[in-house]
Amino acid sequence: LINCEPLKSLVRTVPDFPKPGILFYDITTLLKDKTGFAQLIDAFAAYYIGKDIDLVLGIEARGFIFGPALAYRLNAGFVPVRKPKKLPAKTARVSYDLEYGTDSLEIHLDAIQPGERVVIVDDLLATGGTMQATVQLVRQMGGVIAGLGFAVELDFLKGRAKFPEYDVLSLLHYD
Ligand code: 5GP
Repeated sequence: LINCEPLKSLVRTVPDFPKPGILFYDITTLLKDKTGFAQLIDAFAAYYIGKDIDLVLGIEARGFIFGPALAYRLNAGFVPVRKPKKLPAKTARVSYDLEYGTDSLEIHLDAIQPGERVVIVDDLLATGGTMQATVQLVRQMGGVIAGLGFAVELDFLKGRAKFPEYDVLSLLHYD
């Protein structure tokens, strides 16, 4: 596994975004760095190459940044998992709890064939609720979850504990 820890210096923390009291980990400063972005995708690719991945699923919106670059490197397809009412054809939907209220995610019903090997990616693992909802969608459709990949993991929130049965890869850790 490529050591990405030096890339942590390229992630910017923004206090009080999107709400007072929240410290936001802003990856745009990493994305715009040409060696930083390349190293991140290289590290993902190195981990998943040879694992027979059919599809990379990206979670809206920042999973759409890493997912396609990784899918290209793996010769895999890319599938978007989107906020409600964005996808045009028939969808499966899952709802999940937020701190206040609920949110939903959708995927096209024909996006995954039973038995296809899937890696799900997102920019950041916090409580794990978003990924857990996506895992539910993939399981419903008969996809095989070969890995869960994150650029950043907030270790202190222990989101990883929601996925004891899966291979969780996070390239940058904060505790
Ligand atoms: P969780 O569902 O694990 O609690 O939250 C993770 C989701 O919220 C991800 O889709 C991620 O994009 C977003 N998110 C939550 N906090 C942050 C943050 O500090 N930085 C970024 N970039 N995304 C965050």
